[in-house]
Amino acid sequence: MGGVPKLFLPLGGKPLILHTLRPFLQNPNIKEMVVAVRGEDLKKTKDILKGLPVKVIVGGKVRQETVRLALEAIDESLELLAIHDGARPFLSPQLLQACLEAGEKFGAVVPALPIYDTIKKGDEWVERTISREGLYTVQTPQVFRAELIKEAHRKAYEDGYVGTDDASLVERMGIKVRMIRGEKTNIKITDPEDLEIAERLMGEKEYRSGVGVDFHRLVEGRKLFLGGIEIDYNKGLLGHSDGDVLLHAIADAILGAIGIGDIGVYFPPSDEKWRDVRSVIILEEVMRMAREKGWEVENVDCVLLAEEPKIAPYREEMVRKIAECLGIEKERVNIKATTTEGMGFLGRGEGMCAICDVLCRRSL
Ligand code: MG
Repeated sequence: MGGVPKLFLPLGGKPLILHTLRPFLQNPNIKEMVVAVRGEDLKKTKDILKGLPVKVIVGGKVRQETVRLALEAIDESLELLAIHDGARPFLSPQLLQACLEAGEKFGAVVPALPIYDTIKKGDEWVERTISREGLYTVQTPQVFRAELIKEAHRKAYEDGYVGTDDASLVERMGIKVRMIRGEKTNIKITDPEDLEIAERLMGEKEYRSGVGVDFHRLVEGRKLFLGGIEIDYNKGLLGHSDGDVLLHAIADAILGAIGIGDIGVYFPPSDEKWRDVRSVIILEEVMRMAREKGWEVENVDCVLLAEEPKIAPYREEMVRKIAECLGIEKERVNIKATTTEGMGFLGRGEGMCAICDVLCRRSL
């Protein structure tokens, strides 16, 4: 999928492999874990799994060879082994436990689901309809007595036999494999559409809100930038950057929501790098930092306090620009404006103020 190895695909802001490992890490019956990856992915996988009790090894050219190498790498004293697809991130703790218990009892077990859809054979045109009775789709984890699955792989290797799952290698030795009920949510990510389904399955979300307030002086001889766009006016906002008070309030609100300080920490006026920079760049950088931690913006609501100019004619363009920076739909961005009815420094047109409230979302 797009050249990114499946294990690293971002799901709810985290690499897929971390979701896949979660039920195993949480199960006290799991004594050792081996993750087998392609040689070129070894370092990155080790980085992602740093600190976790997981052994990372280089797998083979094909799936079966990869499993065989993992079986060789796992602690020899273990009596029961579970083999799981790295790209099945939604295995529930309950199904894992059920597979382990059934594996202990029957020696070889696979989670399976009966087929409810009608099955047809053909190629563009239907050739015939196949009875779905007694047909199942099979998932992982597949659990086996250690010596049984090791022998099955050894035999398959010697015979040059390639099966589409591990159970089939056991079956060809004449040994019965038990099926227990799998889970519809235990999907395997194989194409981009699966990833979309996976994102929807990532039900558990965390929400945090943040607020941002900013002031800038209005001075002559500067262009006015507000909400990421240039506005026709005889004064502009004074600032180290372009002085876009609205974008600064939004950036500050996002940093506040995700709990990593404020705009002054990352874009200090003392840093020449940010001199006269367009605030769109600052907001995009803040979004990049937020995404790095798994956060997305749910919505923003802003108030601009200024006596002049009228922002109504520019509102739509500002909304579009801000939505683009945040990577969200226009409907999630709201901009309001008010005057102070001539009162105080804002009323005298000495400067502008913006207040922003933001809600951020992260998958757990
Ligand atoms: Mg500012």
